[in-house]
Formats: sequence, C-alpha cells, structure tokens
Amino acid sequence: MAYKFVDNYRERGARKQLVKHLEKRGIEDKRVLQAIGKVPRHFFFDETFWNQAYRDIAFPIGDGQTISQPYTVAYQSELLHVKKGDKILEIGTGSGYQTCILMELGADVYTIERQENLYRRTIQVLPYMGYTPHFFLGDGSRGVPEHAPYDKIIVTAGAPFVPEVMLKQLKYGGLLVIPVGDEKSQKMVTILRVGENDFERIELDTFRFVPLVGDQAW
Ligand code: SAM
Repeated sequence: MAYKFVDNYRERGARKQLVKHLEKRGIEDKRVLQAIGKVPRHFFFDETFWNQAYRDIAFPIGDGQTISQPYTVAYQSELLHVKKGDKILEIGTGSGYQTCILMELGADVYTIERQENLYRRTIQVLPYMGYTPHFFLGDGSRGVPEHAPYDKIIVTAGAPFVPEVMLKQLKYGGLLVIPVGDEKSQKMVTILRVGENDFERIELDTFRFVPLVGDQAW
C-alpha cells in the first residue's frame, strides 16, 4: 500500500472541530486535547476514507481490528496523566494512533501488537511521521517483561480479567489502564501499584473494545 501524507486545510479544520467536540464530551486535559489537535488521524486511513477520519468513531483498519474512537483515545490518555519521559507500555498498537498521542505527551513508548500486518504497517508509518517508539510483535497479554518496569501500562483491547503479570511489570507508584469485561462491554479500570502486593483499583465508564487475545486473555 502507498501511503499519502498530506495535511491540508480541510483535514486541519476537521481536526479542530474534533478537539472542540471532545472538550464538549468532557475531556479536560489541555495537553491531551493539544495532542489530538496535532496528530493527523487521517494518515491512518486509506485516502478513500479521509472524510471519516475526524468523526468520533472507531474505524476498521484490517485484520478485523479498529483504530479506536477519538473519545476513547483521549479518555485513556487523560487517565494516564502522562509526564514527560514516562516509560509507557502500550498493549495493542493497532494503527499506532494512540502511540503517537502518547509520544506527543512526552512518553517513551514501548508498544506491542499481535497482528503481523498491523505491526509491519506501523513500523513503516510511524517513523515516517516522525514517531519512533519501541515496536514489538507478539502476545502483549503477558506484557513485555524484558523491558519492565514501566511507569504506566495502557491496554487498548478488552480483557476478560486483569493479568497478574502486567501488575508485576509496574513500578511502585505506576498505573495500569485496562478495559475489563465480557465480549460485549468493558469497564475502564485503573490500577495503581502502591507496594509490592498492594494495588488500588478504580472502575470507571463502560466501553466496547475488540478483544485482547492471548495467553493471559481471551
Ligand atoms: N489504540 C489503537 C489504535 O488507535 O489504533 C487501538 C487498536 S485496537 C482497538 C486493539 C489492538 O489490540 C488490535 O490491533 C489487536 O490486534 C491488538 N491486540 C489484541 N490482543 C493483543 C495481544 N494479546 N497483544 C498485542 N496486541 C493485541
């Protein structure tokens, strides 16, 4: 596939409208809104579908997967409270859009995808756009233990339970953001590691993600 990277007035205008829409939906973190306003989401779409890129919807990216809805990306990013230099593990690279948002927020991102086609696409597209996270291909339901510990872990697919192995890869004071539930709907869960075996769990709003598939998942 040939990639087309043109960011013209129509797409820039649509992106501004999207930011206003997310603000109205309750996203308050100015840095997250700025990042959404900066990353050209249409670069993750075939040109035929550029008119869909700034709608607040998830969209198919091939292999039965989706680029997450902008509201969901903003919501998870806000929960992470990203600080410059945070070492963040992202499980489910997908299109790479969320990865770029985290990098705009100053994170050093480790991102893993299990679908080889998606992985191959992101290792080309993201560096071309100027983003160079650490890419991994494989089952992220076990985390990426060889590079642990992380300040934050974000899971962008719906998990049936919180994998214990992920919790163990958080630094003390580190945070996991993970959607947990059944195939139809998941609650967004945040888990703060406060000590070796001490965790604080909060359940938030309901979402619908594609499933996290793997050894510690569906
Ligand atoms: N934030 C991404 C985006 O904006 O494109 C979302 C991608 S999609 C909702 C979730 C991704 O998780 C899919 O690409 C899927 O293949 C991937 N995934 C599912 N189970 C996985 C696993 N065990 N390890 C790594 N990736 C996984």
